[in-house]
Amino acid sequence: MSYSDQPRGIATSGGELALIEKIRRASAARPLGRVRLGIGDDCAVLRPPPGHELLVTTDLCLEDRHFRRDWHTPESAGHRCLARGLSDLAAMGATPLAAFLSLAVPSGIDRTWLDHFFLGLRALADEARVPLAGGDTAQSPSSHVLADIVLIGSAPFGRALQRSTARPGDLLYVTGSLGGAAAELLSLQSRSASPETRSARKPSPTQPHPQLFPAPRLKVGATLLRRSLATACIDISDGLSSDLQHLCNASHLSAELHLDRLPIHPLAAGDLNAAGDLNIALHGGEDYELLFAAAPSKKIPRSIAGVRITQIGTFIHRSTKPAVTAIDRSGGRSPLTPAGWEHRI
Ligand SMILES: [Mg+2]
Repeated sequence: MSYSDQPRGIATSGGELALIEKIRRASAARPLGRVRLGIGDDCAVLRPPPGHELLVTTDLCLEDRHFRRDWHTPESAGHRCLARGLSDLAAMGATPLAAFLSLAVPSGIDRTWLDHFFLGLRALADEARVPLAGGDTAQSPSSHVLADIVLIGSAPFGRALQRSTARPGDLLYVTGSLGGAAAELLSLQSRSASPETRSARKPSPTQPHPQLFPAPRLKVGATLLRRSLATACIDISDGLSSDLQHLCNASHLSAELHLDRLPIHPLAAGDLNAAGDLNIALHGGEDYELLFAAAPSKKIPRSIAGVRITQIGTFIHRSTKPAVTAIDRSGGRSPLTPAGWEHRI
């Protein structure tokens, strides 16, 4: 359904219909790209580029599980809903074509909150040039906001990056920096009521908000695919230790990880001691950076689309359990047990 019918389960009061109308109008005013028919018919119609295949990803964003209204600004909640799906497309080198949002909101929700949720979502949608092409709305039976996002992307036929195709001897790279999202979440926890937090709207180069406004690495993923740089790729949603394990398992390989090479986000390196910094960089989730494998013969640039790229390890034949061995500054080796992100909200 594409917001065209009367929404199921919603009283036909002016408020909810006004919301749908607002989404419809805002979407109609934006370029549709590969969406031939968007909101207004029973289905959206997409026209992928010739020679491409479609990629589909879906993410459920639950209040008090993936965001909290007292910690995350509404702009941040909207941004993060879309960012999770865009990051999945980035991990496969895909170009986003269309987004679909199904939203359940409790009766009596603050309209301003909802307006700003959409502002945050649309700001990122505009940046990523992905039209909102449909969805559904309903009244939530609970007091929680529930948002389900579906993203459709495309990639040249047979060329989407995968997790299962790393090879022994490949080098392991990561984009950007690690631990920032978890570090910012910890600080949101401790100062959720401060005016500084409430006024956070959008990251700036000097005031990044890796938790509130993560930046999906779409341009990096697309470049890795277009220039055939990566043999395998995943995005870091659960944390480096967990997602590297996923990459190793999918490719039936082990990996050696050099701890002293990890690019630790300045927020994570802030108030904590060195062991704490490392811990949050290894296990803190929601960074939405890309972790990828590349053959040693490939010349990987130091940055792609303005995003720093760091070589942090090597893939080897499957030999260890757990699959990842951490190597410290003095050459000491220890197994790295995945301790993925438990969403601590
Ligand atoms: Mg993912």
